Amino acid sequence: MLFIPFLQMLFLNQDKVEKAVKPVYEGGFVRFFEYAADYYEYFRISLTAENPKKALLFVCVSVLIAFLLKNIFRYLVIWYQSYMRMAVVRDLRNKLFEKAMVLPLSFHSEERKGDFMSRMNSDVGEIEVALVSVIELVYREPLTILIQVSIMLYWSPQLTLFAFVLLPISAFIISRIGKSLKLTAREGQHQMGVLNSSIEEGLGAVRIIKAFNAVPQVLAAFKKINLRHQQLITRTFRKKDLSSPLNEVIGTVILLCIVWYGGSLILDKDHSLLTGDKFLTYIIMFSQLMRPIQNISNSIGYIQKAKVSLERIDAIIETDEKIFEVENPIKLGELAQEIKFDNVSFKYKEEFVLKNISFTIPQGKTYALVGESGSGKSTISDLLPRFYDVNEGAIYYDSVNIKEASLVDLRSHIGIVSQESILFNDTVRNNIAFGTEQATEEEIIAAAKIANAHEFILNLENGYDTNIGERGSKLSGGQKQRMSIARAVLKNPSIMILDEATSALDTESEKLVQDALEKLMKDRTSLVIAHRLSTIRNADQIMVLSKGEIKEMGTHQELLDKQGLYYNLCSMQGIFA
Ligand code: ADP
Ligand code: MG
Repeated sequence: MLFIPFLQMLFLNQDKVEKAVKPVYEGGFVRFFEYAADYYEYFRISLTAENPKKALLFVCVSVLIAFLLKNIFRYLVIWYQSYMRMAVVRDLRNKLFEKAMVLPLSFHSEERKGDFMSRMNSDVGEIEVALVSVIELVYREPLTILIQVSIMLYWSPQLTLFAFVLLPISAFIISRIGKSLKLTAREGQHQMGVLNSSIEEGLGAVRIIKAFNAVPQVLAAFKKINLRHQQLITRTFRKKDLSSPLNEVIGTVILLCIVWYGGSLILDKDHSLLTGDKFLTYIIMFSQLMRPIQNISNSIGYIQKAKVSLERIDAIIETDEKIFEVENPIKLGELAQEIKFDNVSFKYKEEFVLKNISFTIPQGKTYALVGESGSGKSTISDLLPRFYDVNEGAIYYDSVNIKEASLVDLRSHIGIVSQESILFNDTVRNNIAFGTEQATEEEIIAAAKIANAHEFILNLENGYDTNIGERGSKLSGGQKQRMSIARAVLKNPSIMILDEATSALDTESEKLVQDALEKLMKDRTSLVIAHRLSTIRNADQIMVLSKGEIKEMGTHQELLDKQGLYYNLCSMQGIFA
């Protein structure tokens, strides 16, 4: 707008130069703009008349200033925008991870892991992209459009209305593409989750895959999933990218219509305000207007894709937590009397896997659970720390229903050692002190000694500072288990749950671990699940579980005398004493 009238003045309309009349301001708001426009016209005409070179310089300097300002402000927008987009990404990831930590174990089956990862990465990424375009849209385009459209309306309402009748056609076509894009995008994001799951699973099972010579099958399955992903994403890209060329064609058609219609208006000389030079500016302005309008339609594409991603993220954030905290939890002290299961029934889905389980463990006693695999032993041990809540009946900590206590409080009194020792890619020291961060060096070493772990730790290359690798891969099974025990010793809980803590070990390390476990259980209230019955013969009471029900209960000797289920289990393992 700055350039064109000046250039015309300089090179074309020298005869007009004489006619400059200084405008007079007559008051009023709308009048002010007219006055400003007239004054600018007067200014440039008289400037050109006096000194054409000075006028040329004025044009150059003012264009320079305008562009400097434009870019300074644009950079400021981008500067702030880069903070904003990443802040939103950060918040979304925080929210997702926090939710994953709070959600019950039932949420975390293996198949979910890859899916969750893809929501955390690529879905959050989609939202980031859309966010950037929305910010641009909100900051820049509306203002540009508003100003340009006002000027165009002022110059020629007729022509402008004509132009804007054509626009909805393009809007309609673009929205059709948007809808179909959204469908493909949803499939694509889902497939990304499948892909991630398969990567996760493959990497986790490399050893078995190699051992079974299953590399070709696994590879083929992976390639198939990956191919499907590629196809879906390619389709998404193509649909999204279609909007830009299509827009340009539509834009050009509209522009040509305007050139034709506006040109005829001028040629017929029935239009007062629109002169030749203004018409030229008008067309340039309109073609510039196409860009923000195209940006808007691109943004709509991004937003459609992001909507799909947002739905997927919301689905997690709004998942029912199922394990609820009471408003005013009762504070639990050290266990004084007993843990009591009162008529507890529980189901994961439709079928009850525990039926009317009742037993009481007095403080300081060791109770053992035995039974065939799948009988519900681990499920019982998961109910006590409220990884799941009971469906019927109740569990009491002394006289407090555990649902009345806070989760953190309850779990602070419980130590767990399970078959699979869960270790982190960190030093020995930090793994033992996990959850007990304030522990001193002496306490950590004392715990390691009780767990029969001190010796082997000293033999590691950096002692307590040795990094043990992912999931403790640099340690043997027995060593990992003794680390887990040291961790439990350090936590010093009053209740211990041991779920097949020695099952995965060879006889040699089992002895060391068993010895460590006995020290750990001493003076604590313990629930021990054991596959090898030899390890629990000294328990105060043994409960025999079958298909979710307690069938027998008594000491080792009592149950043997009964010659029932326990007797059969023992005879299968060749244990009689
Ligand atoms: P055990 O530890 O005695 O071998 P579990 O307590 O692990 O047995 O399992 C008891 C029953 O509950 C089994 O039939 C098992 O299939 C089922 N089950 C275990 N975990 C889940 C789960 N997360 N979702 C659905 N069913 C489960
Ligand atoms: Mg189990």
